[in-house]
Amino acid sequence: MSSVSPIQIPSRLPLLLTHEGVLLPGSTMRTSVDSARNLQLVRSRLLKGTSLQSTILGVIPNTPDPASDAQDLPPLHRIGTAALAVQVVGSNWPKPHYTLLITGLCRFQIVQVLKEKPYPIAEVEQLDRLEEFPNTCKMREELGELSEQFYKYAVQILDAVSLEERFKMTIPLLVRQIEGLKLLQKTRKPKQDDDKRVIAIRPIRRITHISGTLEDEDEDEDNDDIVMLEKKIRTSSMPEQAHKVCVKEIKRLKKMPQSMPEYALTRNYLELMVELPWNKSTTDRLDIRAARILLDNDHYAMEKLKKRVLEYLAVRQLKNNLKGPILCFVGPPGVGKTSVGRSVAKTLGREFHRIALGGVCDQSDIRGHRRTYVGSMPGRIINGLKTVGVNNPVFLLDEVDKLGKSLQGDPAAALLEVLDPEQNHNFTDHYLNVAFDLSQVLFIATANTTATIPAALLDRMEIIQVPGYTQEEKIEIAHRHLIPKQLEQHGLTPQQIQIPQVTTLDIITRYTREAGVRSLDRKLGAICRAVAVKVAEGQHKEAKLDRSDVTEREGCREHILEDEKPESISDTTDLALPPEMPILIDFHALKDILGPPMYEMEVSQRLSQPGVAIGLAWTPLGGEIMFVEASRMDGEGQLTLTGQLGDVMKESAHLAISWLRSNAKKYQLTNAFGSFDLLDNTDVHLHFPAGAVTKDGPSAGVTIVTCLASLFSGRLVRSDVAMTGEITLRGLVLPVGGIKDKVLAAHRAGLKQVIIPRRNEKDLEGIPGNVRQDLSFVTASCLDEVLNAAFDGGFTVKTRPGLLNSKL
Ligand code: ADP
Repeated sequence: MSSVSPIQIPSRLPLLLTHEGVLLPGSTMRTSVDSARNLQLVRSRLLKGTSLQSTILGVIPNTPDPASDAQDLPPLHRIGTAALAVQVVGSNWPKPHYTLLITGLCRFQIVQVLKEKPYPIAEVEQLDRLEEFPNTCKMREELGELSEQFYKYAVQILDAVSLEERFKMTIPLLVRQIEGLKLLQKTRKPKQDDDKRVIAIRPIRRITHISGTLEDEDEDEDNDDIVMLEKKIRTSSMPEQAHKVCVKEIKRLKKMPQSMPEYALTRNYLELMVELPWNKSTTDRLDIRAARILLDNDHYAMEKLKKRVLEYLAVRQLKNNLKGPILCFVGPPGVGKTSVGRSVAKTLGREFHRIALGGVCDQSDIRGHRRTYVGSMPGRIINGLKTVGVNNPVFLLDEVDKLGKSLQGDPAAALLEVLDPEQNHNFTDHYLNVAFDLSQVLFIATANTTATIPAALLDRMEIIQVPGYTQEEKIEIAHRHLIPKQLEQHGLTPQQIQIPQVTTLDIITRYTREAGVRSLDRKLGAICRAVAVKVAEGQHKEAKLDRSDVTEREGCREHILEDEKPESISDTTDLALPPEMPILIDFHALKDILGPPMYEMEVSQRLSQPGVAIGLAWTPLGGEIMFVEASRMDGEGQLTLTGQLGDVMKESAHLAISWLRSNAKKYQLTNAFGSFDLLDNTDVHLHFPAGAVTKDGPSAGVTIVTCLASLFSGRLVRSDVAMTGEITLRGLVLPVGGIKDKVLAAHRAGLKQVIIPRRNEKDLEGIPGNVRQDLSFVTASCLDEVLNAAFDGGFTVKTRPGLLNSKL
């Protein structure tokens, strides 16, 4: 068959798997290449190959299957299109990819896959004889365009090799298309009188419907809607440019048959346009004193943040404009960033709307899709405005640090335009296609870390750090805010449930480990749910009780009152408590409801053998304590590192072992064979749990040294001490970041002593008084001092380190 064809394709073709539509012979399409398999193909075939033959590929339509392993070759569609790669455009940003322009030549059938890696190559049989249908190229092109919507159908057409079968499939499509075009032509015939158009639309509509009373009614309703829409456009206060667009679109709409997909599209568009708050705003009421009271009432602690927010509001009040940096609250989850944003809106009497940016990697999420796409929508900004119904809300841009990037454009760039006061009075959403004035919107951003906020965005923001809370602050927040809120949500009253402060402390220390209060809030929610069940059961039983039961119950109540100790929930399972007796949540009740404590005794248990030390790490979620474990075994002097370490951390580990080796004699450290050369016939393994979390940074240096010193000396590190600090090869200790969060983490974990670099001493000033009282701090400028503090009785006979009293 192939011998007759003017195009002879090679009998072996490299296969390009694409999920961006179906390429039909004669049509051209752009396809992006970013999978490892396809990238290899492009590199070795198109970029290195020199012959024309090497630019012919076999294009196989492939529906991406998220469940399948990307490494394995997915099941291949049997028929594909041989294509000529006409153009290759490459880019390395945001990740390496190519865009190929390919033209379909003819179809082929896979006879056999010869090779799967690095990209599939198959023996193929050519199917099309191109001279048989010279005039169908254009048709195929159109089909190609339709293929996005009719993927399945297009694949079937691709598979229809015999001409007859193919005509059978495509002719109905063409007929439908022609009918549609005819109708459109009729409806577009110019009408002179604008006002008569609504009436003129009816006979045209009839063509598309089989007339009958029901349809007529529908149609009437529809026409009414359109008249309404037209009226709304007339009376809307939208700017002139938008108004013009609306008038034009409604004219078009009136001429369109309802069955056209474009009809619904245009109508949705117009409905959005009239709904948008072009000119509607709330009146700001700003009274700084009232704002202070409101912020204080809603939020315990976080003084620095509240102070800065008040300053910001005061300046706004005086200057009466919004130009200036955008506030960005940066801190771990659950420290109240969103909640403060909400309070700002409340103090100003403005609407509040949260826009979650986490994972957004397509700029059309911000700026909308063009209306030519099926299912196109406005972006989140315009959607938000529609939701709040005013043009001056407070928009909380949540998690700006989690914006992604992709081929579909950089959302950060779109966001930049939104936030720029020079540009944002003219913000154009792609869907809307007319400018909307965003200059009255007050934007506030939140993030867990500044490290991943795109630099250009960071430049526009004023960063306010929101650190984690101390245990005492958490208890206060729980009792002032979280518990009352949870009670209300569960329909409980303080007469029904009592949570003493010691219980809250138990929840904080034994059931949660976090910088904020989110888990704490969830645990309190779980307790309220359990109590709600008990209370409801009690009420149910009470309703059923007869007189004698009541007497008995009252007896029971008296008994409890005598003891002045209400029963805990665990003891009440079968006891119908009188409704006015609160259920006391003590530790037993806690265990019943939340299960056994999750964080207990962990620290001292883990430090019960040599070769373990506690470091302090900073993460976007707050400070964390981090165990470093080491073991040694017979070997060849290898150092193995596990726990997903970054390069800087690996270097710290090498520095640490080098320093110890060079100081082995001084500290009398020997390996298992009594040699001062610690790695002589010995391998060392260092592990940083939790193994699934990537860790990097230089601040684990002192911990690694301590851990290895413990391993080689056989002595236990003190179980109540945690440390942080970068080291040098000469044994100096250099300052590190995140001291406050790290110290709070050590405090949360119940540790007693923290070793920090001497040059970080000034950072201790920002630490709350009660935490400073509970901890003692050792400031060290060299490793000698670190080791002396980390081991009971010191590590060398040298001078003891300067033990700093917490009352700095
Ligand atoms: P974030 O946005 O920082 O992740 P949220 O604002 O969602 O945190 O806070 C989680 C919950 O904790 C909310 O119910 C919030 O009201 C409460 N909360 C956090 N900090 C405080 C605080 N200082 N005072 C009162 N409630 C707080």
